[in-house]
Amino acid sequence: SRRLLSTKKQPSIGRFTGQPDASTGKFTVSFIEGDGVGPEISKSVKDIFAEAKVPIQWEKCDVTPLFINGLTTIPEPAVKSINKNLIALKGPLATPIGKGHRSLNLTLRKTFGLFANVRPAKSIEGYKTPYDNVDLVLIRENTEGEYSGIEHVVAPGVVQSIKLITKDASERVIRYAFEYARAIDRPIVSVVHKSTIQRLADGLFVNVAKELAKEYPDIKLQTELLDNAVLSVVTDPAKYSDIVTVCPNLYGDILSDLNSGLSAGSLGLTPSANIGHKVSIFEAVHGSAPDIAGQNKANPTALLLSSVMMLNHMGLTEHADKIEKAVLSTIASGPENRTADLAGSASTSSFTEAVMKRL
Ligand code: NAD
Repeated sequence: SRRLLSTKKQPSIGRFTGQPDASTGKFTVSFIEGDGVGPEISKSVKDIFAEAKVPIQWEKCDVTPLFINGLTTIPEPAVKSINKNLIALKGPLATPIGKGHRSLNLTLRKTFGLFANVRPAKSIEGYKTPYDNVDLVLIRENTEGEYSGIEHVVAPGVVQSIKLITKDASERVIRYAFEYARAIDRPIVSVVHKSTIQRLADGLFVNVAKELAKEYPDIKLQTELLDNAVLSVVTDPAKYSDIVTVCPNLYGDILSDLNSGLSAGSLGLTPSANIGHKVSIFEAVHGSAPDIAGQNKANPTALLLSSVMMLNHMGLTEHADKIEKAVLSTIASGPENRTADLAGSASTSSFTEAVMKRL
């Protein structure tokens, strides 16, 4: 059966250590509803969780950014809530282009040390894509690389943008990939890199992986050049069903969208987890979809499947399975129950109701 995160075992790093409230028996989860379609798809998750009687209560967080001394800052109550609950579900946040502020998504990752971005991409029944046997798991380094925000104007018309790779950040994400592979019973970790060109930076990433592999004799380490990996996954994705791929930040960003396209054909379906040593934040891969915001058209599946990953991470595996099955069987049941991005005629709310009936 489909599993987004192993329900049998959890990786030994980044485990959820939160406890339910002693009197209500419920966990509290911080909820960032997000911009654009965020409130609509958030409502869908809340309604389905209530119907499925998931033992959690939501704590709504306002993350309207503050700009202090040119730095993007998250309001203190939201930071406190997430640090207290150790877990959050997040809708998409719009990033203003070219205003000189760092993206709020990046700020969240930095603030909570969310070093590993886990992005599973698996074929679903009910929507035709070029392949029906895709089952990819990619882990993206989430804190540095080209996303370090170190850029300078060197001279008029010349800018320098620095890709930062450190041994520490490489080690923690690659170790997570090995632990994750163990937890979901995949025998191979594949490091995707471009050390032929980025000799020092990607060379360091690959060398760290080779060192760590000695601690995981049960798992085979494979290295793949980025260009080969892209060609290979597009021509034969089934080859990756035994593999956990791990890569530096930007490669992971691009490759994981390619994986989404191969598996689902729509960004409206792909979930993700941002894992830190203490805190984890779960979110859809897609953005705020301003072109369809407020029209009851958005597909809530990606946020729903992210919430399923979250429930598995919290050990609420029965609720996770129940919701996952209901979502997938609704999509498989016919175009009248699918949203427009999947060539269907359902609205966000009618899709949500159809899922609730299947719980
Ligand atoms: P987008 O993912 O919002 O939209 C791309 C296309 O996919 C659009 O046509 C949109 O309608 C469609 N789409 C996305 N989600 C969908 C859903 N749930 N159901 C149906 N269709 C869906 O990407 P964009 O337009 O490039 O970005 C919009 C904003 O979102 C930007 O400000 C960007 O910075 C931000 N963004 C945020 C995140 C995040 O919060 N993690 C991720 C990506 C982009």
